[in-house]
Amino acid sequence: AVPSASYDVVIIGGGPGGYNAAIRAGQLGLTAACVEMRETLGGTCLNVGCMPSKALLHASELFEMAGKEFAGLGIEVTPKLNLAQMMAQKAESVTALTKGIEFLFKKNKVEWVRGRGRIAGPGRVEVTAADGSVRTLAAKDIVIATGSEPTPLPGVAFEDGKVVDSTGALSLPAVPKHLIVVGAGIIGLELGSVWRRLGAQVTVVEYLDRITPGMDSDLAKAFQRSLTKQGMAFKLGSKVTAAKSSKDGVELTVEPAAGGAAETLKGDVVLVAIGRRPYTDGLGLETVGVAPDKRGFLDNDHFRTGADGVWVIGDVTHGPMLAHKAEEDSVAVIELIAGKAGHVDYNLVPSVVYTAPEVAWVGQTEDQLKAAGVAYKVGKFPFSANSRAKINHETDGFAKVLADAATDRILGVHIMGPQAGEMIGEACVAMAFGGSSEDVARVCHPHPTRSEAVKQAAMGVEGWTMQA
Ligand code: FAD
Repeated sequence: AVPSASYDVVIIGGGPGGYNAAIRAGQLGLTAACVEMRETLGGTCLNVGCMPSKALLHASELFEMAGKEFAGLGIEVTPKLNLAQMMAQKAESVTALTKGIEFLFKKNKVEWVRGRGRIAGPGRVEVTAADGSVRTLAAKDIVIATGSEPTPLPGVAFEDGKVVDSTGALSLPAVPKHLIVVGAGIIGLELGSVWRRLGAQVTVVEYLDRITPGMDSDLAKAFQRSLTKQGMAFKLGSKVTAAKSSKDGVELTVEPAAGGAAETLKGDVVLVAIGRRPYTDGLGLETVGVAPDKRGFLDNDHFRTGADGVWVIGDVTHGPMLAHKAEEDSVAVIELIAGKAGHVDYNLVPSVVYTAPEVAWVGQTEDQLKAAGVAYKVGKFPFSANSRAKINHETDGFAKVLADAATDRILGVHIMGPQAGEMIGEACVAMAFGGSSEDVARVCHPHPTRSEAVKQAAMGVEGWTMQA
């Protein structure tokens, strides 16, 4: 087909990878189009991921605090849940954010081409709109940013309102009596926390014998203790093999992962949160000779797929499946396309669990350092010895700094406590500059703040912590 328009870059997917790539292209003076098939821009993150989940985490945390903690501060209230309003304010924030991306597209002269994109050979993207009309775009470079989707669990079919994925769990019409979460990863624990705070009994079933794989195991143990104290129940080392739904709810068959007798677990809603898988359906990869790997990811070498002028970023390629990683990829890929020097340091992509307490980390875990045989020093500081945490009655958790035993260079920072996600940024900056624990220990931090615990943990590496 004869192209109806031609661009320097056509980006397929309008999530954090795609929309940031489009905006960066506009900023660098490239002509760019972003193809998105959803009704709104922003991808998984803005529509059914990071943003709506954080809206519910925030509101549900305040709801629980109002019921359980306000009285102790001398504030007497009797909170009453208005779930419809909680959902409405979430939707309103999400709309404001997705409209914000539309505005940024206009400001940076990026075109949003609505519809499903399919690569139709080198330099060609075919877009099918919702009304079935098809147009072809010509592109010097194509960036694939099609993201990911929830991984289904064999034997457990999704069923509206009963067996749901994360998208379903973000808009349940009522608080379930018993919510069973399959998968103790970040998404399962965040959404499990939301519904537990709103009144659900929550049981988390996990195949591994630990929660949150990838998190430093010292931190994961403390985190599990904290969630258990809040009332979340865990069934670790267990696999869900079947689900049977009836009008009273769902019955799950659960077997020990190591083998043994099966048991049944009854809940009224089941959230399957066992991970996400790359999404490349109908993308026309074969027309440019690109094939996904065994797990469905598109391989990349500095974002190049191997096909001339076809690049890939975000969840659909390797690396942590996180919005800020997709965003870093997006800037780097456009800079490379524009002939500049784009680069991402994947060792410095932080992870955050937005529960209460939050858990955040960057760099290496102790488990990784031990496995690699790296000699390291540890500095650890509990929030129970941090004055701000004490005053706020939020003393659960600690900060931990891991530094190279020989050079003192910081190798990893791990924090559990309120606002850990905000505090980890300091560690990212220090590590990006090749900082040592002594550097952080000698930097003046404001008092009284929780960030002093990071400084104290760094001082701990040096052996001169003042408190505790
Ligand atoms: P996506 O955001 O998935 O965007 C891809 C877009 O491409 C989609 O909008 C899709 O419709 C579109 N698309 C796909 N194929 C085509 C096609 N052929 N034509 C046109 N359009 C197409 N990450 C964080 O960093 N922090 C968090 O707190 C966080 N919380 C999360 C909570 C939940 C419940 C979930 C599910 C995810 C969360 N994530 C979080 C992960 C984050 O959402 C993803 O890492 C991020 O969205 C990936 O960005 P992306 O641009 O690669 O893909």
